[in-house]
This record gives sequence, structure tokens and C-alpha cells, in this order.
Amino acid sequence: MGQLKANDFRVEHEKKNTHDEVVIINTCGFIEKAKEESIQTILHYNMLKEKGKVDQLIVTGCLSERYKKDLEIEIPGVDAYFGTTDLPRLLQYLKADYKHELLGERLLNTPSHYAFLKISEGCDRPCSFCAIPIMRGVHKSKPMEEILRETEKLVQGGVKELILIAQDLTFYGLDIYKERKLAFLLESLAKIPGLEWIRLQYAYPSQFPMDVLPVMNRYPNICKYLDMPLQHISDSMLKSMRRGITKRRTLELLDEIRNTVPGIHIRTTLISGYPGETEQDFEELLEFVKEQKFDRLGIFNYSHEEQTHAYTLEDTVPEELKQERSEIIMEAQQAISLEKNQSRVNSEMKVLIDRKEGAYWIGRTEFDSPEVDNEVLLDASQYYLEPGQFYQVHIDRAEEFDLYASLIHSNSVERNKIVLPGNN
Ligand code: SF4
Repeated sequence: MGQLKANDFRVEHEKKNTHDEVVIINTCGFIEKAKEESIQTILHYNMLKEKGKVDQLIVTGCLSERYKKDLEIEIPGVDAYFGTTDLPRLLQYLKADYKHELLGERLLNTPSHYAFLKISEGCDRPCSFCAIPIMRGVHKSKPMEEILRETEKLVQGGVKELILIAQDLTFYGLDIYKERKLAFLLESLAKIPGLEWIRLQYAYPSQFPMDVLPVMNRYPNICKYLDMPLQHISDSMLKSMRRGITKRRTLELLDEIRNTVPGIHIRTTLISGYPGETEQDFEELLEFVKEQKFDRLGIFNYSHEEQTHAYTLEDTVPEELKQERSEIIMEAQQAISLEKNQSRVNSEMKVLIDRKEGAYWIGRTEFDSPEVDNEVLLDASQYYLEPGQFYQVHIDRAEEFDLYASLIHSNSVERNKIVLPGNN
């Protein structure tokens, strides 16, 4: 988007216009659900193109990297399909220049106070179920100077929360620096003035770089939050999934993380119905979820993806059973989440306000990532708050995934902009 803007295009993210000259769809293709959503989106815009509401339709991203030939045959109305590394070609197609000096220039499609930053692309892990390495290729770290430069620009543009993402954050540096550099990168980022929250998403558990943990403790602007997808806990499942870790080591790792970083909130994701998952494997997983009481948790039904190693196995668990198992896990997690949220009632927390929705201002604590985690709601008829500002709040009541709060005082320099109760 940054490149197009620099070429004098007017670029908008998901804006509903009556007429668009060019629509570019960035697709996802790693599991069945994502593929369906991507295809539905292409079909929708193809229909708009047929009605004359779109002049040119372009598809890029993982789905077209993986299924370009099929898509060209199945949906010929699309003007051009590009893969995951085709950005310069896509720009050329639109008669725009690829400007190397603009690397790191971004046009955010998130609210202006937070941004996702991808520190590496691709993945070298051998997880049996995963199609991502097929689409994204081998692991390639982004040089540290580029990341720091991009972050400084983002902060100058108003970003306060930076969410580091990658297929596997823990591998950062191994390819270009011949050693894991996540801890060093974090430390350098944490020193950037004005960056108030740094969040880590997607850390692979096997060979987790333990030097990251003391850095998390040392810098208050590194959120005490870690998203570590564990996928399963039964040894036979972990082995078949080729995760490079056992149940015992996973339990030790979780203990070590919690002991080294007191108060850390761990988010995980799991898979239900992987080939060969027995009732016993599932019971073990459920028990693990109940015992570990993760702060945040998500679960996917196993998706049988061609070209993966797991595709050579039989997809033994029926779809309904996968779904039933996912629901049982989520029910258990719901109770855990309610209990954890209730323990917050009457405490004071710092929240970052994301937006206003209906009758509430919606914010998050440092323990919550946007779009996937819990939210904190403040009555919009009581206060005027500013999205992108931090506030100190009192937690009044709790539900499974939401906290209701009242304002204590502003933690930001723009305190005088707040209209306190009664002045609405
Ligand atoms: S680490 Fe993540 S992206 Fe890499 S192969 Fe495993 S599941 Fe896929």
C-alpha cells in the first residue's frame, strides 16, 4: 500500500466504494476455512467486476501462490494472479515503480496507534500438518536495521504498540546472523522512545530462546504476553505432528517461562482431530487445558492439506467429531477465562483504547492482542476517551471474554482532553 501511495495511487483498505478502478485481494490459503473465505471474496469482487463496479481485479498472496494455475482456470474473470514474492511484478503490472528506498514505508490498515511488524518470512520447521512453508518458503529474517528503521517511522507516525509477528519469531536471526537474535532485537526495540507496548506473537516452543525472558522482565514496555502455539500435548500426536518437543519438555518450558517472568500471560492455539487422534489423546489434551489454565486459547479443527506430510496419513477423525472436540475444549477454556477475569474485579489496570463501538469505548490491557483476545469496555455515555490513548481503569465486573471498567484517571499526557463523568 505504501508503494502504491508513493506512485500517486489513492489506496484504501476494505473501503466500500460504488466504483473502484482496481481491487487487489490479498489471500490466505493455509487451511480449508481460510481458502473458502479467500475464494468467496474473489467471487464477490468478480461479480462486482461483471456488474461494472470494478474495472480491474487482482489476486495476490498465499492462495494464489499455491493454486495459481487452478484459479486461472476456475475464476478467469480475475485480471492477474500474483504469488507471495511478486510485489515488484504486481506494481509493474499497474505501471507503478517499485521503489527500493521505500522499503519499510507503510500505509497502516490497523488503527494508527498499533501496527503488526513482520520480522521474518517463511519457516524452516517441519510441522507435518502445515502448508505455510510451501507458500512462504524457507525462513528469511528481515535485517535488524530495517526493522528498527521501520519501527522508528511507525512510532513517529503515532504507533504506540508494536506487535511482532513471523511464522516463528524464535528463529529470528539464524539465517542472516547465524545465531538467534530475538532477545537482542527486543532489547533494541524496547529502547525506542515512544514505543509503549511491544508484543510477541507466534513463538515456537521447541528450542525456545530462553534469553528472551530476562529481557521481558527488564523492559516494562515489553508486554508480559507470549503467544506460543502448542498444537497438542499427547506424545504420540506431538511426534506425528513433528513438533520436535515432548509433553514433559512442554510442561517444563511452561513452568520455566512462568517462573522467570512472573505475571506473564500465555496464549496458545491447538488442533483438534489430527489424523489418528484417539479419545485418549483428546482426553489428555482436555486435561492439559484444564490444568494449565492458559490465559488465552484458540483451537482449530485439523485441515487435511495436500503436499503436507500429514496428507500421507488418513484423515481419520470425522468433521463432526473434530468440531465437537473443539467445542469441548473451548467450553473448558470459557470457564477458565471467566475465573481469571473475575479475579481482576476491583483491581486497577492500564488500558489502551482501540475504538468506540455502540455504547462502549473498547480497550485492551497489555495481556490482550487486538482482534483475538479479551477486551475492556467503558461506558461511552459516561466519558469521552480518545482512541490510541492509555487510561488507568478500575475493573467493575467480568464476563468470559470481556471486562467492564470505569475510569480512574488518564495515564497519557493528553489528560486534559478527557471529559470526566457528567460532562458528556
Ligand atoms: S512453525 Fe508454524 S509455520 Fe512453521 S511449519 Fe510449524 S506450524 Fe507451520
